[in-house]
Amino acid sequence: MVITMNTLHLHSTPAEVKQAGELLRAGQLVAIPTETVYGLAANAYDADAVAGIFAAKGRPADNPLIVHIASPDELPPLCSAIPETAGRLIDAFWPGPLTLILPKSDAVPGIVSAGLPTVAVRCPSDETARAIIRAAGVPLAAPSANLSGSPSPTTAARVAADMDGRIAAIVDGGPCRVGVESTVVTLCTEVPRLLRLGGVTLEQLQAVLGEVEMDDAVTQPLKADAVAASPGMKYKHYAPTATVILVKGDAAAFCRYVNAHAADGVEALGFDGETADLQVPFQTYGRREDHQTQAHAVFEELRKADDRHVRTLYVACPDSAGVGLAVYNRLLRSAGFQVVTA
Ligand code: AMP
Ligand code: MG
Repeated sequence: MVITMNTLHLHSTPAEVKQAGELLRAGQLVAIPTETVYGLAANAYDADAVAGIFAAKGRPADNPLIVHIASPDELPPLCSAIPETAGRLIDAFWPGPLTLILPKSDAVPGIVSAGLPTVAVRCPSDETARAIIRAAGVPLAAPSANLSGSPSPTTAARVAADMDGRIAAIVDGGPCRVGVESTVVTLCTEVPRLLRLGGVTLEQLQAVLGEVEMDDAVTQPLKADAVAASPGMKYKHYAPTATVILVKGDAAAFCRYVNAHAADGVEALGFDGETADLQVPFQTYGRREDHQTQAHAVFEELRKADDRHVRTLYVACPDSAGVGLAVYNRLLRSAGFQVVTA
């Protein structure tokens, strides 16, 4: 894609939120803050504007987008049916980091759902995000605001690194509170099915729904010929230029394993308080049991490794409780499923 545009850098003041809304209404692309990661937004009812998202990101056309609304009242026009389970999930988790897959209405252009008969919808909790949606006056289709395949951006500066020159504006709302994408649940199956883990945990969903099935794609590599229920889960994803290797094991095992692989360009990303024995340069992304901090830091640490031109990054593997499972899931894909047990 040719870089031609002068990208405006806006802030979350009322005047600049209004300006962002006007650009979106006019069919332009605007990157917006949300509590999960920054989104690259377009008017969800404008197929041409949405096509611009796929072009700006280099996103495969078979990977559908999430439609963002400012309030649950804005859901009915987007879908042809709202099952009873949706009401319970909305009461419990909206506004917040939960995306629901529902049967799509004809109002939503096919390009948004990549031709699927379903639509993904979320009501973000970030105040600036909702103010921009209200200012636009239309639902906003928005994937993460990174070049396809890269770690998702959690600051406006990282959005600018990927998107300057490709989109009309970036609204800076500060660092994202959660740091990993939304949890995605489909209500178009017999039993609600978890397609992607994120800011809302498996345990929280089970508490509201009782039974939840977990799609294989959540924790396992997809077989080459498998059809992904959530197409975004099939690609190597969230990947920095550095090779990422995920290392399972306790603090001592992690340090021993990494030290045995010490070389030029090799660095480690470990847990706070567990790096004293490392003999390679390292960063940390929270304590082992602090999954919120890990989620908040993980994408930024992957991008910082590229800033330092790291060749191979050994990452201490988070355990699978709570939001840790979402962090694990992202790292698994950044590593192209290269996991070692130390
Ligand atoms: P992103 O916005 O880049 O974080 O990606 C959106 C995620 O939602 C991807 O994993 C998509 O595959 C998933 N998604 C969006 N729409 C649908 C849908 N209709 N059915 C299943 N998954 C969807
Ligand atoms: Mg994404």
